[in-house]
Amino acid sequence: MARPVTVVTGGSRGIGAATCVRLAVDGHDVVLGYVRDGEAAERTASAVRAAGAQCVTVRADTSVEADVDRLFATAADTLGPVTGLVNNAGVTGSQGRLADTDTAVLRRVVEVNLLGALLCARRAAQVMSARGSGVIVNVSSAAATLGSPGEYVHYAATKAAVDTLTVGLAKELGPEGIRVNGVAPGVIDTEIHATTGDPGRADRVGATTPLGRAGQAEEIAAAISWLMSPEASYTTGGVLRVAGGR
Ligand code: NAP
Repeated sequence: MARPVTVVTGGSRGIGAATCVRLAVDGHDVVLGYVRDGEAAERTASAVRAAGAQCVTVRADTSVEADVDRLFATAADTLGPVTGLVNNAGVTGSQGRLADTDTAVLRRVVEVNLLGALLCARRAAQVMSARGSGVIVNVSSAAATLGSPGEYVHYAATKAAVDTLTVGLAKELGPEGIRVNGVAPGVIDTEIHATTGDPGRADRVGATTPLGRAGQAEEIAAAISWLMSPEASYTTGGVLRVAGGR
């Protein structure tokens, strides 16, 4: 059987990087999208190849339609038809109350987290519908239901929209043999917190969860890889919360 070819957006670092490696171990070839950190992308690609998979890296901003088209075209040209998408690229913008958040931050978070997820899902749907099979996993957040007051309500709102995308697209594409699910991580130990100026957030907030710690990127990757696998063949339209009980 041909190996699945899976596009992972935001595959250079954090949850996306762990997902690329886990998918490689589980038999996927990987198309690794990133936007800025080429060195991290190449490091992760090396780990993917060391796990026995083929990997191509593509610099592509998911909020830009032409970049998304190029991401999928490069995938098809180098590794073959895309069979899977992990819609993972995301940003939190800044931390603080909505009243104090700049319009430019709101716009960027909506453009990356929501428009980017829509553009990638649309491209995947076009490719997969033509083949009559495929799998999509959207990376949401526990913030979608918690709301993230005082931290980033704007970010939480985009993730709630991503959950609605998951539900609707699963219903739209199910009859065509395409499954669509989401994973909603809780607080995970990645660089995203330092990017927002709060490097201690994972430890601090993680300690308040029922499991008493932040999650690791590999624990999210495991959930994503299961949803991508035939083991999850009757699972669609679901959002799997992996949040330490939060
Ligand atoms: P991270 O460590 O900051 O990594 C973000 C990744 O997304 C990087 O690979 C980055 O690429 C890429 N990226 C950012 N903007 C992009 C764009 N416009 N186009 C393409 N790629 C872009 O973040 P993370 O913690 O792994 O988060 C991954 C996903 O999980 C996000 O959707 C996030 O909202 C979600 N999540 C995270 C947590 C958490 O606590 N960490 C909790 C819930 C949900 P470069 O390396 O090139 O910059």
